[in-house]
Amino acid sequence: MRILVISDIHANDTAFEAVLKHSEGEWDFVWCLGDVVGYGPDPNECVERLKTLPQLCLAGNHDWAALNRLDVKTFNPDARRAVEWTQDTLTTENTEFLEHLPVTFVIGEYTLVHASPREPIWEYILEPSIAALNFPHFETPYCFVGHTHQPVIYTMDDDESKAQSSPPRYNESHTLNGRRQIINPGSIGQPRDQNPDAAYGILDLTSGVFEHRRIPYNIRAVQRRMLDYNLPERLITRLEHGL
Ligand code: ZN
Repeated sequence: MRILVISDIHANDTAFEAVLKHSEGEWDFVWCLGDVVGYGPDPNECVERLKTLPQLCLAGNHDWAALNRLDVKTFNPDARRAVEWTQDTLTTENTEFLEHLPVTFVIGEYTLVHASPREPIWEYILEPSIAALNFPHFETPYCFVGHTHQPVIYTMDDDESKAQSSPPRYNESHTLNGRRQIINPGSIGQPRDQNPDAAYGILDLTSGVFEHRRIPYNIRAVQRRMLDYNLPERLITRLEHGL
């Protein structure tokens, strides 16, 4: 059984389609770690595409924002405008899909959350010290997270006090060898690691092997739609910089 591990699609259907095409035939099921919508121009298209797949999807902070479950005053003005546009654009059916997404899910050796095990909607695991504080908050050997839009693997030290981070090695097999790890596949729709290509991962449950991947997509086409919908300029330009 092979899993397509994806996160932070952020209403970017062109990137989502590119990832599905690039990984075609290589997986049986999808784990989506949240933020299906928010920022991008295609919230309905992304929810609808996701619904056609055999998948398990978690809720992210932007999905909750689209549902009015968060106070959007905590978002910066650009993000807030995108949230309001998303709320106005989403169909009732697709809003209902987002309403039913779980916040955490445990399946076999894996815990799945959007942000972090101790704060599943909000906390950014951007450094090993934050990762280390999160290992006591899940029981399985491995945890998949999204939210930071940066692909990475954090491994817990033997004495359980610290964690080490390893950058992704694209298209290389990473064997899950029993050492506890927090793994981020990166973002499909709005990467923030100075690489604009869509990021995703493939997990082979049988052999316990994970692989980070990147794939370029037609960024200009997405930017044009964002311009048409009058979405904030900063959100449009950041796609080409991967920031
Ligand atoms: Zn996100």
